[in-house]
Amino acid sequence: MTSGLASLLRERLRGQVLEDELLARHTSLKVGGVADIFAVPADRDELQTLLAILSERKAPYLLIGGGYNLLVRDGGIRGVVISLARMAAIEPLPGNRLDVEAGVTNRQLVSFCRERGLAGAEFLAGIPGTVGGALAMNAGAHGGAILELVVSLSTLKEGVVVTTERSELSYGYRNLELAPGEIILGAQLQLATGDPVALAERIDGYLAHRRQHQNVGFPNAGSFFKNPSGEQAWRLIDQAGLRGCRVGGAQVSEVHTNFLVNTGGATADDFLELARIIKERVKERSGVELEEEVRIVGEDGDWGLGTGDWYNL
Ligand SMILES: Cc1cc2nc3c(=O)[nH]c(=O)nc-3n(C[C@H](O)[C@H](O)[C@H](O)COP(=O)(O)OP(=O)(O)OC[C@H]3O[C@@H](n4cnc5c(N)ncnc54)[C@H](O)[C@@H]3O)c2cc1C
Repeated sequence: MTSGLASLLRERLRGQVLEDELLARHTSLKVGGVADIFAVPADRDELQTLLAILSERKAPYLLIGGGYNLLVRDGGIRGVVISLARMAAIEPLPGNRLDVEAGVTNRQLVSFCRERGLAGAEFLAGIPGTVGGALAMNAGAHGGAILELVVSLSTLKEGVVVTTERSELSYGYRNLELAPGEIILGAQLQLATGDPVALAERIDGYLAHRRQHQNVGFPNAGSFFKNPSGEQAWRLIDQAGLRGCRVGGAQVSEVHTNFLVNTGGATADDFLELARIIKERVKERSGVELEEEVRIVGEDGDWGLGTGDWYNL
């Protein structure tokens, strides 16, 4: 399906096109097999060219932001992984609004707002990743979530740029409904005028809180499971006696029980088995069904037996 595709893409794109790229290099859990092709289009036009070629070749693709919420299976991705890292502009608009492209990092956005006295995005301080990934996940903390800032979302749907007002979006806790293959290009965000000193204090406070409570010392993907309604996933995992529980190199963090960490040499299979054990024990102990917050993508280690559920999940 991707045979000869990399050469064609290299001919047609100025951006980066890598073959057999190990995805463990692109995920914060440091696991995951190879992607047939890893492409970083230079700009929006190139992204559209890339998608037209993939559509013609019927080649599947997956969007990756910073890889901070992705567990890629050991068999990797039979298709194309697309990064929008080069589409990373922030354009200020009148009325405390910003046009932010998907490849901007949360850190850049928070700094931009801090420097210009724009309030509302401070909760993103310390949430690693890109704005595209944050929008796809409706990332949030400290009572804030990014989709609450959105005026409109810009996406590519079947090759066409679509702008959707927030009121028309379907989203919730760590979730945004996208059509299969729909790509987030960016969003217009509404901020408020803020006092620079108060903004800086809030941001520094959030960062200090993370250093204190999330300093787990090993590669991780943040909270592995969503908090069930009215519950804390970490508490349920702790009550099930799983603090420090280990499968191969994957371990329930001793510091924060909803963080699963790679203590060295873990495989995706180790994480999947650990997650299975956690779900089983928590269900037995408290009757609650935990659901992964981390997006699980890619094929099983034995190539060819993939479940195929990775297509722009
Ligand atoms: C130490 C640590 C702390 C964390 N704390 C928090 C927290 O407090 N709150 C929180 O919400 N999360 C937290 N996370 C998780 C993670 O940072 C967020 O989910 C973040 O938004 C992921 O962004 P990303 O760019 O890395 O996305 P990725 O992990 O690369 O991708 C996530 C999903 O978004 C999709 N996607 C990415 N870009 C696009 C696009 N342009 N169009 C369509 N789909 C796209 C991907 O296909 C994937 O399904 C934490 C993670 C770590 C490691």
